[in-house]
Amino acid sequence: MDIALVLGDITEQDVDAVVNAANSSLLGGGGVDGAIHRRGGPAILEECRALRAGELARGLPAGQAVATTAGDLPARWVIHTVGPVYAKSEDRSAALASAYRESLRVAEELGAGRVAFPAVSAGVYGWPLDDAARIAVSTVREHEPQSVREVRFVLFNQDVYDAFAAHL
Ligand code: ADP
Repeated sequence: MDIALVLGDITEQDVDAVVNAANSSLLGGGGVDGAIHRRGGPAILEECRALRAGELARGLPAGQAVATTAGDLPARWVIHTVGPVYAKSEDRSAALASAYRESLRVAEELGAGRVAFPAVSAGVYGWPLDDAARIAVSTVREHEPQSVREVRFVLFNQDVYDAFAAHL
């Protein structure tokens, strides 16, 4: 399994599945979540609403992942995962690792070959960049691939890119 780094916008990636750093409501937010819903169109939100009306009535907990259509994005699926909010008083790194692990588990269930990840929790959720990159890279490296042959980290600015490059 190849691990690649790209400086760019995740909504433009020609991959099978794009991972969204969503919030538990699944009903949209800012950052990468906002960009995915904007570019992917209303079909994504429609499926998220259906999930909330059914199996995910209380939302998606941190560390878990669920797939929907990718709507108008080049990808086939969006895998929504929820990273933990960073907290100084509590070590939530297991939940951050779980967000990557569970997203890859869903990707394998879908039979996805190429999967793009943003830097989960490293935006509004405040995770220190170097540590977010370390957890992302080490967790993905532990994955035992079946269908997934490429994991592409798509980093939105140079600082984030450099943090990931330092750990790869
Ligand atoms: P979280 O709430 O999990 O912290 P954010 O969306 O706020 O998620 O930020 C996660 C990372 O995604 C940040 O590094 C942010 O700069 C980046 N980001 C924002 N928009 C995009 C995009 N279109 N493509 C890729 N990364 C993005």
